[in-house]
Amino acid sequence: MLDKFRDECGVFGIFGHPEASNLTYLGLYALQHRGQESAGIAASDGELIRVSKAMGYVNEAFDTGTLAKLPGRMAVGHVRYSTAGESRLANAQPILVDSVHGQLAVAHNGNIVNAGELRDSLVRLGAIFQATTDTEVIVHLFARSREDGAETAIVEALSQVRGAYSFVMMTKDRLIGARDPHGFRPLAIGKLEDAWVICSETCALDLIGATYIRDVEPGEVVVASAHGLKSIKPFAPARRAQCIFEHVYFARPDSYVFGESVNESRTEFGRRLAGESGVEADVIVPIPDSGVCAAIGYSEASGIPMRMGLIRNHYVGRTFIEPQQSIRHFGVRVKLNPVRSILEGKRVVLVDDSIVRGTTSRKIVRMVRSAGAREVHMRISCPPTISPCFYGVDTPRRSELIAATHTLEEIRKYLNADSVRYLSLEGLTGAVPGGRQSYCTSCYTGVYPVAFPRDEEAYLQLALKLNPGPQDSDSPTVSIPELEKDPVVR
Ligand code: SF4
Repeated sequence: MLDKFRDECGVFGIFGHPEASNLTYLGLYALQHRGQESAGIAASDGELIRVSKAMGYVNEAFDTGTLAKLPGRMAVGHVRYSTAGESRLANAQPILVDSVHGQLAVAHNGNIVNAGELRDSLVRLGAIFQATTDTEVIVHLFARSREDGAETAIVEALSQVRGAYSFVMMTKDRLIGARDPHGFRPLAIGKLEDAWVICSETCALDLIGATYIRDVEPGEVVVASAHGLKSIKPFAPARRAQCIFEHVYFARPDSYVFGESVNESRTEFGRRLAGESGVEADVIVPIPDSGVCAAIGYSEASGIPMRMGLIRNHYVGRTFIEPQQSIRHFGVRVKLNPVRSILEGKRVVLVDDSIVRGTTSRKIVRMVRSAGAREVHMRISCPPTISPCFYGVDTPRRSELIAATHTLEEIRKYLNADSVRYLSLEGLTGAVPGGRQSYCTSCYTGVYPVAFPRDEEAYLQLALKLNPGPQDSDSPTVSIPELEKDPVVR
């Protein structure tokens, strides 16, 4: 229901613990926000890898009986929201295959942009695909590798793909983590007593009592085995392009992502937003949960008190029965309800992390006004979202992104707000370590650090020009030309 970019996937792996599959279940539980369509766990007892996958949430996909059938001291797990390939059980992960290099279980977060080309050539060579995901391409490349041994076969397979990947993989006696040379998606390493853990976010380490050690570096492959943790850096260095949206929205605020506290970066976005676009107001109200950290920062910097003027119902299921007689603002009111005592007669600053289509924001502004707010000022803790993502995030087409087709004033009118302001790109990238050079900001700029196949251009609904940019000589930067403005506010 909420108008957001959709999270991609979450991955978790553990080596050297007698309760490997149980801990993987808990790790996936902590990563549930990264994917809610399917969940899967593969476990190895040192001789054989077994896998169990199901559609739905982690707690629906597994029970004690299922976990008991996944014995062993190693496991990898995956939660999925489909970014490439449709939503069905055949596309759930981990993918488990048997090959000349032995069994391999693969869990992937990201999107391989040349998967289509690789798939076509593999099919011409006789490969048979069972699913429609980009991840299956990696499995075929691994199986066909003539390298001697699983580790080198994995490195050879990875060297052929472009785009975003954070993998956890498992052979019958090794856990492998790999992050693409640009480092789009996060991948953290932790330790639980003698066991190694590799996972998308540190909140998964916290739940199982593991200690965060460091991130898998961009372009690094780490291998946990009976000999300890080994690091390989087999790929040429590339320009860093860590997904800034992880800090804006995707990751949990209690996680460290790319080595930085998400809570701290989001709060700083709010402080900077207040500095850039302050307004006379009586109360700061976050749109829960995504706007809370930025609202705290906005309140700190502006000196205006923050109050929870919108209350979220945490128990909304995936479906609910609507009444036949219409209830005002029903769709959004099921999830959020305004607190009249906080809003009535007040000049309200509503803080949220992003606006995608604008449909939900418009309903929330209307709801806040109908609760008696005198003024409603919308503040967004990232720049206008003008371009889709091709690196593992589900985004609408460009024509559906309100900021791609409307001016700020048109957006204000559409939302029926007294004012609308976004955080600047400089404000956003200045709030995270490494600044703009370390991050992907393509959804705000339309400048893409890794080129994608020409047929993806249709998705942008605009002609593209290729700029041989200085950022990455192997993969020319793609940029969108001057936007054509659609003056109509719907
Ligand atoms: S385009 Fe946006 S969502 Fe996608 S990787 Fe880049 S910053 Fe993240």
